[in-house]
Amino acid sequence: MSRFWSDVVRGLTPYVPGEQPKLANLVKLNTNENPYGPSPRALEAIAAEAGDSLRLYPDPNADRLKAAIAVHHGITPAQVFVGNGSDEVLAHAFMALLKHDAPLLFPDISYSFYPVYCGLYGIEPGIVPLDDHFRIRIDDYIGRANGGIIFPNPNAPTGSLLPLSEIERLLEHNTNSVVVVDEAYVDFGGESAISLIDRFPNLLVVQTLSKSRSLAGLRVGFAAGHPDLIEALERVKNSFNSYPLDRLAIAGAVAAFEDDAYFRACCDKVVASRTRLVGALAGLGFEVLPSAANFIFARHPQRDAAQLAAQLRERSIIVRHFRQPRIEQFLRITIGTDAQCDTLLQALAEILAG
Ligand code: PMP
Repeated sequence: MSRFWSDVVRGLTPYVPGEQPKLANLVKLNTNENPYGPSPRALEAIAAEAGDSLRLYPDPNADRLKAAIAVHHGITPAQVFVGNGSDEVLAHAFMALLKHDAPLLFPDISYSFYPVYCGLYGIEPGIVPLDDHFRIRIDDYIGRANGGIIFPNPNAPTGSLLPLSEIERLLEHNTNSVVVVDEAYVDFGGESAISLIDRFPNLLVVQTLSKSRSLAGLRVGFAAGHPDLIEALERVKNSFNSYPLDRLAIAGAVAAFEDDAYFRACCDKVVASRTRLVGALAGLGFEVLPSAANFIFARHPQRDAAQLAAQLRERSIIVRHFRQPRIEQFLRITIGTDAQCDTLLQALAEILAG
């Protein structure tokens, strides 16, 4: 550890985003990317932008993109913040809206980025355990002193979904702090809380183009909320980097929002494959938690998950295993194409027979 590091950096646990191995011919089912390519219209828009205009700085406000997001969600551009992936949007939310004297409440089994940002910004984490079925229980958040609340919906890595009525109930009871709903996976079976932002000025909904819009490599995320919350995020953003999105990202993201048919078709394919995969895994003896995301969380009562993950890796299939209390016997498996799911199922059948 370098003697030149600040105390803040010494205290940080770096977030290692799922492994990104540099091997060919992998069946890569570990980081919840979309198995289908981006919209052809997005690719055309990126190619068209990749010319002389790259000499020039991008629009610092990404107005075209904010307008496209606003149209898509039936809100106003003043209710939209855009960032370099939803990770950046979340980071700004932690600093701008979630750092207060009281602890920030979030589930014990959830997106591993939250504790990392608590460490970075000196926010006290208020860990709320999931229930016995690995679900978020809203009653555990109501009535607890807090400086903010954040959770993914659907949750990651469990995939479980809270109905919108439960989020509404939380907001009715929790009016004095910001509630962030991280909807990275909502398009695969959830109902977005963006429809609630006009009613609840303390609600911030964060989404990404990395999953349902197949643009993880472009790094675009956004938040929707009351203009007052958005203004706080803009202030933080401008203090770090006034150009969070480059020209290619803006062009590609706008076109992706304009190609709704492609987006819906991709989501439908992933959901159909998920249903098929869940059934087949159950047939192999796995217990699979109900998932509304583009991944499933499953365990085999007789097999060690770490060993299963290693055996799959020997066959060039990568799934995610977490060495974390309560969930060390689970595997998180991204929904791939049907062909990738079949390769996985075939390998698991062989491993379990062996
Ligand atoms: N939130 C959750 C719950 C996630 O799983 C992820 C992706 N790992 C993100 C946010 C960040 O996604 P991105 O930065 O690609 O938008």
